[in-house]
Amino acid sequence: MEYKLVRSKRKTLALYVRQDGSLEVRAPLKTTKNYIEDFILQKQDWITATRSKLSERQEAKKTIRISAADATKYKKQAKEYLQQRCRYYSELMGLSPTAIRINSAKTRWGSCNGSGEINFTFRLLFAPEDLIDYVVVHELAHLKELNHSPAFWAVVGHTMPDYGARRKRLREYQHQVELIIT
Ligand SMILES: [Zn+2]
Repeated sequence: MEYKLVRSKRKTLALYVRQDGSLEVRAPLKTTKNYIEDFILQKQDWITATRSKLSERQEAKKTIRISAADATKYKKQAKEYLQQRCRYYSELMGLSPTAIRINSAKTRWGSCNGSGEINFTFRLLFAPEDLIDYVVVHELAHLKELNHSPAFWAVVGHTMPDYGARRKRLREYQHQVELIIT
């Protein structure tokens, strides 16, 4: 069986089945190949089950196809909508960005840099409103804490006490819907 081996100073052996079904083994520096391969054999059932769960999820995924021209239109809409949501939460949180930009990022909903600029992907527009608001509050909170420390989550939680549930739903949404620009 093929697998990717990543060695590090960790103490235990761990297996990961990645999105594409490939196997990754993380191992302590001195673990022997034999030991690793025995470990994989023992975990065979788990690997098979995890792979089929992943492919089921992939099949259940809803695909939205839009044209490049539509994408441009949605980007404009996203800018207006997100600017409005940022204004609302900026006032609540006492934090405002120096700029708001819209990109087409596939895997990141938003980001914030040290100059106080916030980027959102237009793909966010397709998500439920309460999840969009979570991303807005998350990025605005980065204006105060440019990390994911407990202090950062305290800022998020102060404005949005139920952020944990929204964060979880956003992760699920990411698996459920795929937007393709054709
Ligand atoms: Zn963040």
